[in-house]
Amino acid sequence: MIYDNEKCPVCGHRTMTAVNCEKEAATICMSHCYECSFFIRMFAHCSYRRQFADKKRIISEQERVRGMIRKFKGSTVNNQEENRKNE
Ligand SMILES: [Zn+2]
Repeated sequence: MIYDNEKCPVCGHRTMTAVNCEKEAATICMSHCYECSFFIRMFAHCSYRRQFADKKRIISEQERVRGMIRKFKGSTVNNQEENRKNE
């Protein structure tokens, strides 16, 4: 358990079968989790944090790849020029 609330913020009852809800920042009844729009039934997993975390990761990944391409292009251009000088 990450959160230590005794009562479920969704229904106000004491949580019996509780799950950590990052959206509510509390433990909630498991049944609310299944009803939530962030819950992906196919993976039986909450997608709340992942949605935001993935966006950041995808952007940084794109930047990383772009940087690699820039370096690669730069190095091949330099190599070609050096080859020409050597010829
Ligand atoms: Zn509840």
